[in-house]
Amino acid sequence: MPLGRWRRRRLIPPPVRELLAHLVRAGHQAYLVGGCVRDIVRGLDPQDWDVTTSATPDEVLRMFPRVIPTGLRYGTVTVMLSGLAVEVTTFRSEAGYGDYRHPDHVSFVGDLPTDLARRDFTVNAMAMDAAGRLHDPFGGRRDLRRRLIRAVGDPRQRFTEDGLRLLRAVRLAAELGFELEAATRRALREQAGLLEHVAAERIGPELLRTLLAGHAGTGLRLMFETGLLGRIIPEIAAGASEPPSWEHLVATVERCPPDRELRLAALLHHNAGETEAILRRLRLGRPVVERVGRLVRHHREVRLEPPMQEVELRRLAARVGRDCLGPLCLLRAADLAASGAAVKAALAGSLERVGRVLAADPALTVEELAVDGHDVQRVTGLRPGRAVGRILARLLDAVLAEPSLNRRDRLEELARRLAAEPKDD
Ligand code: ATP
Ligand code: MG
Repeated sequence: MPLGRWRRRRLIPPPVRELLAHLVRAGHQAYLVGGCVRDIVRGLDPQDWDVTTSATPDEVLRMFPRVIPTGLRYGTVTVMLSGLAVEVTTFRSEAGYGDYRHPDHVSFVGDLPTDLARRDFTVNAMAMDAAGRLHDPFGGRRDLRRRLIRAVGDPRQRFTEDGLRLLRAVRLAAELGFELEAATRRALREQAGLLEHVAAERIGPELLRTLLAGHAGTGLRLMFETGLLGRIIPEIAAGASEPPSWEHLVATVERCPPDRELRLAALLHHNAGETEAILRRLRLGRPVVERVGRLVRHHREVRLEPPMQEVELRRLAARVGRDCLGPLCLLRAADLAASGAAVKAALAGSLERVGRVLAADPALTVEELAVDGHDVQRVTGLRPGRAVGRILARLLDAVLAEPSLNRRDRLEELARRLAAEPKDD
């Protein structure tokens, strides 16, 4: 239920209201705009604040003590208030879009209606003044009520101007739990190819936000249906071109807790051979690429029913790393549940056991053993080389089976015994 003006005004923190008032006292126009207005109209506390104003960036720089010139080329500066950062952008209109991504010309001669008209979706194209008065020329409030993402103006043209809007539409739908208005959706499907003009650095974050959104399933289904996902990750589409199989991927993602790496792994869990290459292409950063790769590669090694023994869990942790043990169980459970299995109790039991195993802080690598290669050489008389490595590996194997063995005296004794064993070759 959209809020009335006074309730809206009350959702603006006093420092932000003061910023608007200060600009207005200096003879400028100044309005909140974009996501914060969308949130306020829905009665939510905004996470970040965007202001649109007739003042030029230079004027804003001079009016406030702490201002960071974050995007001067596009007329944006960031005003730092006590504990808040407010992005202040000069009214502008745009023209050109020769590269399907950035306007060729940005001019600061606009007014509020022009500035709102350049924005992407009706729910993002509302402005509000410090008194809570709303400017809503494109029916953003109506679309919030109807739960629709609708392009401002002609959707085909708007997507052609900037291909990133294709992904923003889906991400907003996923965050808000909205549907795409029919013409916007049609344009999205017809113009999915425009994504080719969007840099991977811009695609990755939007995909992640969609995967982590409250209605991630809605967003993913849209991405499949409109062909967007097929453009971003053709490898998935190749294996999941039919709805039943993408429904499984969607269901697996939805059943994973909203964790970046888990949800990426859920999306890619049928693409074990290609996971790392896909994520590198999306520029997601080494740690993410590496961890998601491990989750995908090993998730089938988890057994929930009957739950894995502690020794099996330690062996698995030795292969996948201790940080992946819990997430692997969650991924496996989501995968099985998406296929219709009842796994809730089994998952709870497994997670409890994982917690117990990890709490004991067992040695999981040769480096974590109570002895090292020098110790093995000393007690066995072996020279440095592969034989020492083989003994260390067997010591680790023994410690994984029985963690209490991980003491210097016991491992040295075991090493001696292993070295004395007759060779079978
Ligand atoms: P959130 O902060 O939750 O991501 P937001 O709507 O504030 O949501 P921003 O990326 O902060 O999103 O952008 C602020 C506003 O700028 C948007 O609400 C929209 O009006 C406008 N905007 C942002 N990106 C585009 C774009 N690619 N095309 C047109 N307008 C845009
Ligand atoms: Mg914002």
